[in-house]
Amino acid sequence: MKIINDNTYGDYHIHSSTLSDGLNSIDEMVIQAGRLNYKEIAITDHNQEYLNTYNFKANTHYSIISSRRWKNIHNDVQVIFGVEADLLNENGDICDHIQNITPEFIILSAHQKMYSGDRRSIKNGYLNAINRYGSKIKILGHLCSQQFSDYLNEKDIIEIVSAAGRAGISLELNCANLVNDKTCMAHLKTLLSCCKSLYVNSDAHTLYEFINVRDKGFNYLKLNNFI
Ligand SMILES: [Zn+2]
Ligand SMILES: [Zn+2]
Repeated sequence: MKIINDNTYGDYHIHSSTLSDGLNSIDEMVIQAGRLNYKEIAITDHNQEYLNTYNFKANTHYSIISSRRWKNIHNDVQVIFGVEADLLNENGDICDHIQNITPEFIILSAHQKMYSGDRRSIKNGYLNAINRYGSKIKILGHLCSQQFSDYLNEKDIIEIVSAAGRAGISLELNCANLVNDKTCMAHLKTLLSCCKSLYVNSDAHTLYEFINVRDKGFNYLKLNNFI
């Protein structure tokens, strides 16, 4: 298993208050990324359907970001702007835009409130989305979240991880979910046993998570001999 972003390289799943439900602004997260000596981060705020469902409003026009009017004035950290897209149903429909603009760095995740299909068919949802959009998806986010663990078995996890691998999509160890007890640990072990390419991401919604949870993720990987 290859880890794309080692402990000090960077974090590719971060939420901000500028664009979605993080508690800290893009600038605050970037300043903190500099303090962590990261080389690169991806701010991956939630997609538009997620914002609409939860009644969140972005604090700015996304075009200010996409037209590159925002620049990192704080440090040398490279900042990628991405999106946490949502799997919407078993056909593999997804929402991957923010204010009708689709960033290049896409994490695809499923959230209970956003998935309107038959939960028992969530495996097909993932497989269809990978088939339809695989070339533009970078990461499958928190596949082992407890939100859908009753509807997936270990064989399903292996099938989804294999399909993702063939499409060039990496998997994620979601460290906020790990620390906050939102992970199905059996599924996580299965995923880590068969995945070829892994991001270790915070999914930070707070500075505390941004600073602390990835270390706990790496500790888990070491303790269980995955690295
Ligand atoms: Zn969120
Ligand atoms: Zn998520």
